[in-house]
Amino acid sequence: MRSHAKGEIGLHAIDQIGNRFWYMTPVSDTDRPILGMVVGDKKTLMIDAGNSEKHARRFLDELRKRNVPDPDLVVLTHWHWDHIFGLSALTDTVSIASKETKKEVEKLRPLSWSDEALDTRVEEGTEIEFCANAIKKEFADDRNITILLPDVGFENRLEIDLGGVTCLLQQVGGSHASDSVVAYLKEEKLLFLGDCMYADIYADQRNYKIHETIRLLDQLEAFDAETYILSHWKPIPKEEFDAEVTMLRTVAAFTDSFKGNKRKIIAEYKNAVGRDLSEDELQVIDEFVNGYS
Ligand SMILES: [Zn+2]
Repeated sequence: MRSHAKGEIGLHAIDQIGNRFWYMTPVSDTDRPILGMVVGDKKTLMIDAGNSEKHARRFLDELRKRNVPDPDLVVLTHWHWDHIFGLSALTDTVSIASKETKKEVEKLRPLSWSDEALDTRVEEGTEIEFCANAIKKEFADDRNITILLPDVGFENRLEIDLGGVTCLLQQVGGSHASDSVVAYLKEEKLLFLGDCMYADIYADQRNYKIHETIRLLDQLEAFDAETYILSHWKPIPKEEFDAEVTMLRTVAAFTDSFKGNKRKIIAEYKNAVGRDLSEDELQVIDEFVNGYS
């Protein structure tokens, strides 16, 4: 499960899955996540607004070339900058987010995004270096950033009939961000996960909390899906998603039984799978250990 800051994903590409869903691949250098578009017979819904107006516009431009209409609606998966800073390019689009996301976005609006302001916040520990660097790269000398508040705030669930395709939005939380929302396209059996399966990257040490993770996975596994989209990686088939879930559940269980003892967790995991652990698995173990208290 490639996460923030890992891997070298370079150029945007556009792809279609099924009849109703388009997406643009991520770029890791400036931390641009995947953007999605769900095309119904009546309405078009964009998933996430992108990390800048440029990012959002690039997606819409590419889709126009493919005769995909501009979005009527846009949903934000969570409050992190790379998913919301593009919203100001979508002023004709009704924006939707969980009430919690709305509250978090509101906190970002008074902030300055100059190098000095970013550096100060990194120093005080209210911003992380990884995001500060990506913001500097994405915006270069133009820090004229306008953060818009979403128009619609919902609690728990919201179902949208786009015509021929239904999109169910559900707040699932998790360690990465407690406001995380997933978008489930019922007829397409596609689950857009956003960043919800990733660790908490805003803490001093990246971490997963056992109970948050189990509650999250229980909710995700209740969806009947064949394709899963992780915002900083790619669409994956059900078998791959299931393998990620099993890995997270296994590490969570070992972290619990060995009370966060890294050496014991690694030994037991190795024993259980009968091979050396991958870099991904070792990282996830580290993150559960960091989150154990
Ligand atoms: Zn995020």
